[in-house]
Amino acid sequence: MSNEWNALNKAVEMLDAEEREKVKIYLYSLKKMAEDNVEGQKSFMTDLYNLRALFFKAGELMRTHPERKHALIQMDIDNFKSFNEFCGRDGGDLLLQSIADAMRELEREDRVLCHFRADVFEIFTSFESEDELVDITKYLTSKIAQVKLPCKAFPSFGIYIAEDPGVPISLMKDYADMAMRTIKGKFYSNYAFFDAQMRTSMLKEKQIENQAVEALEKGQFQVYIQPKVNMETGAIIGGEALIRWKHPEFGMISPMDFIPVIEKDGFIINVDVYVWNEVFKMLGRRQAAGKKVVPISVNISRLHAHQDDMVKCIRGMGIEHGVSPDLVGLEVTESGFSNNTTVLFERMQQLRDFGFSVHMDDFGKGHSTLTMLKNEPVDVIKLDRDFLRQIENAKNQVVVRNTVGMLNALDVHVIAEGVETQEQADFLIQCGCYDAQGFYYYRPMPMEEFEALLDEEQDKSGHVVKSI
Ligand code: C2E
Ligand code: CA
Ligand code: CA
Repeated sequence: MSNEWNALNKAVEMLDAEEREKVKIYLYSLKKMAEDNVEGQKSFMTDLYNLRALFFKAGELMRTHPERKHALIQMDIDNFKSFNEFCGRDGGDLLLQSIADAMRELEREDRVLCHFRADVFEIFTSFESEDELVDITKYLTSKIAQVKLPCKAFPSFGIYIAEDPGVPISLMKDYADMAMRTIKGKFYSNYAFFDAQMRTSMLKEKQIENQAVEALEKGQFQVYIQPKVNMETGAIIGGEALIRWKHPEFGMISPMDFIPVIEKDGFIINVDVYVWNEVFKMLGRRQAAGKKVVPISVNISRLHAHQDDMVKCIRGMGIEHGVSPDLVGLEVTESGFSNNTTVLFERMQQLRDFGFSVHMDDFGKGHSTLTMLKNEPVDVIKLDRDFLRQIENAKNQVVVRNTVGMLNALDVHVIAEGVETQEQADFLIQCGCYDAQGFYYYRPMPMEEFEALLDEEQDKSGHVVKSI
């Protein structure tokens, strides 16, 4: 808005004097109308300005006072949904009104106070020092703590300082929002300033988002396989398919960096399907040629696990490529299991009925208890890498030994993830866990390399083997 206004004013300056005066009067009356209109743009519940009014009024302040430093603070309440559930709608409304009242006490000519939606508030302000901005967050935090309700509300703040007076308010809001998200779940602070690192990661995220579709079409995604081994014999007993993105400019991008991004827009589903298809194709080709095959597991993203046609899709691929289902494992993370349990359980059970095995990934990272496990439709548990950290510590040893013991007693197959040393392997074997996946044995490798390993094993043994 302020950019357009500046451009308009520049154009007016180019007119001759008489014309200029006429146009200026006309523009002034237009602006007045817009201002009057904005005065009515308020939140019904809190009587603070809405987002449109914030954009207009803050834009005007930036335009008319380019000499000032400006910032936008965004605030929301952690887990406002749960707050509403516990305190009821009336409690939630009372909280929002109390926040608005506290904000009104901060009212100044150089500020715009806005209630964007639900529990999200914005404060646009000029300032001298960053401490003033922090003081605003402290003031509101203490006011919110004083609201008399049966449950406590905790705010988070994101602060963006405008680098130049031309920056659009909508962008300031996006940056403040991003800063706010970085401090969710942190207990030592409840505010964050937008910084250069956030900008870099945001730009990278945007690039990933924009380029992923094309990358899949252009074959930049490749399936790697990390062998799973029997630690006593060293034999390859299976593998896990892991996606890799070979970017022409950035080189190899880790799935940890791009999967969270493509999970947001749902594109992970296409990537998963690509991986599954490559795995089924390879298994079908090898089976048909009488070559050694081992079960390969694929990852199912949480998002995908909730798709209705997921079971049909996997089964269809098995049939199309002539692959027996017992050669394919499906890895769902422990946290995936704990969300939307009933539907997911049914889906996993259907897959097991068709002969596929279901693996619970990253076990120990989430909140499953061992008692929950007896009801879960799971064939294999993958112990998270964290279990193996500081395994020399006596208490950690007790945890691993007892976890493996109970899992064995429950008759689920246990695989340890992230085995990196001989000591870890020895200890796991002592505990009764014989299978592992880890850098000590093999790193993830291109599919062709994995196939060459299988061929080598087959040549050694001289016949076709299918391991479990
Ligand atoms: P994950 O499913 O838990 O996969 C195991 C990860 O642990 C892999 O990381 C693997 O390289 C790593 N790893 C294995 N052994 C060791 C070890 O000894 N030490 C250490 N430090 N790491 C080890 P990667 O390939 O970077 O994948 C990261 C995560 O990305 C995966 O974790 C999985 O959640 C996700 N992912 C990868 N490929 C796919 C895919 O095709 N679809 C979906 N939905 N997710 C995928
Ligand atoms: Ca996995
Ligand atoms: Ca894992």
